[in-house]
Amino acid sequence: MDVIIIGGGAAGLFAALLSRNKKMNVTLLEKNEVFGKKLSLTGSGRCNYTNLNIGKECYYSDDIEKTMEIIEAFGPEDSISTFKSIGIEPYFNGSYVYPMMRNAGEFTDVIISALNASPVKCKTNQNIVSVTYDEGTSRFNVNTDSYSYTCDKVLVCTGGLAMPKSGSTGLGYKIAESFGHKIVPEVPALSGFYFDDMCLKSLSGLRINAAVYTDSGLFDKGEIQFTQNSISGIPVMDISGYIDKNITLYLDLLPELSKEDTFSFLTERVKTLSAFPVRTFFDGLYAKSLGRLLLNNLDKNKDIACISEAELLSLVTLIKKFPVSAKEKKGFDDAQVTRGGVSLFEVTDNLESRYRKGLFFAGEVLNTDGICGGYNLQWAFASAYRAIKGIII
Ligand SMILES: Cc1cc2nc3c(=O)[nH]c(=O)nc-3n(C[C@H](O)[C@H](O)[C@H](O)COP(=O)(O)OP(=O)(O)OC[C@H]3O[C@@H](n4cnc5c(N)ncnc54)[C@H](O)[C@@H]3O)c2cc1C
Repeated sequence: MDVIIIGGGAAGLFAALLSRNKKMNVTLLEKNEVFGKKLSLTGSGRCNYTNLNIGKECYYSDDIEKTMEIIEAFGPEDSISTFKSIGIEPYFNGSYVYPMMRNAGEFTDVIISALNASPVKCKTNQNIVSVTYDEGTSRFNVNTDSYSYTCDKVLVCTGGLAMPKSGSTGLGYKIAESFGHKIVPEVPALSGFYFDDMCLKSLSGLRINAAVYTDSGLFDKGEIQFTQNSISGIPVMDISGYIDKNITLYLDLLPELSKEDTFSFLTERVKTLSAFPVRTFFDGLYAKSLGRLLLNNLDKNKDIACISEAELLSLVTLIKKFPVSAKEKKGFDDAQVTRGGVSLFEVTDNLESRYRKGLFFAGEVLNTDGICGGYNLQWAFASAYRAIKGIII
């Protein structure tokens, strides 16, 4: 049986790895000059490839049951043992799993070396433009501009639209559409937001542990980051898939304390620091840039002892509900994943098209995405495993 895997990213490389000892002729076709361009950038260059703490709440999908059934059938331990089988030892940081050398580029290199030592044919610089099915021969044609490959089964692993400079083209959606699939509209997920509030510009470079929430009930906490004109960080990115634009994000700058406890805490601070000038009130608690912003409406030269109860209450409100008016979500150029894609309802349990037998999908091209923490790569691996299982049957 001849199988072509289109896309040599996380899912395609993993699918090729799993099929390398199986009785089939596998060809992996990648558009870029190298394999795994995006994989080599993951986890801030360290490749957070899975997470031991995995559950339904970590994923978004139009068919979450199917997503979870696939993840549960090939979990973090299975990813870890597959990588161990080619020499990549795991490194655990809590539940987060990285390769021991914590180098995403070298992680990708080890996978490619294992493939080069196998019967899988790996070809780069292959820009696929379409896939067609020949009823006469009952085979697929996988077409570049100048050449046509033929095969019995095709696995589409072309990813989504996020970070086009890593190779994302959206080709998988076009292939799916050409066989009758409807694509769930794609939006950037795991992305930051632009703001145009000039006051927030002074927070550029700030990293702070806080909670982020919205009036619509979205909530997450962790490290928030500011640039001159944007807010990001894992909690912001994790809720971004649910937001389009023009939304006010609220930060809770003391998420471990209730409103009442925050008031008591600030009252104590007033007593302790009473003889110092107001401008120093938050020194030692927050970065100076944030402290200055919080104290904007107070007379900064008077003594801390003179802060009134009303002023203290307004500081509590600001700390617990610090508004960041998000004007626009960062686009696909900056997003880490795509939400939307090939509906899970339009593929079988083995991720085979319901409209064309022999056509399979894996990875981000499908309408499943995860939060930050290794969940997206785990999906790429688990779905690749399932598709290869379906191809072998
Ligand atoms: C900066 C960054 C950091 C990230 N960090 C993490 C992390 O630490 N942990 C985690 O779990 N997830 C992380 N992610 C998300 C994760 O990388 C993706 O979810 C995952 O790579 C998706 O795998 P995929 O194989 O489906 O798609 P991709 O990895 O995008 O691979 C698709 C491949 O298909 C190729 N292709 C596209 N069009 C064509 C065509 N026409 N012809 C031939 N080939 C084509 C592309 O060039 C690409 O190589 C990160 C993403 C980014 C951008």
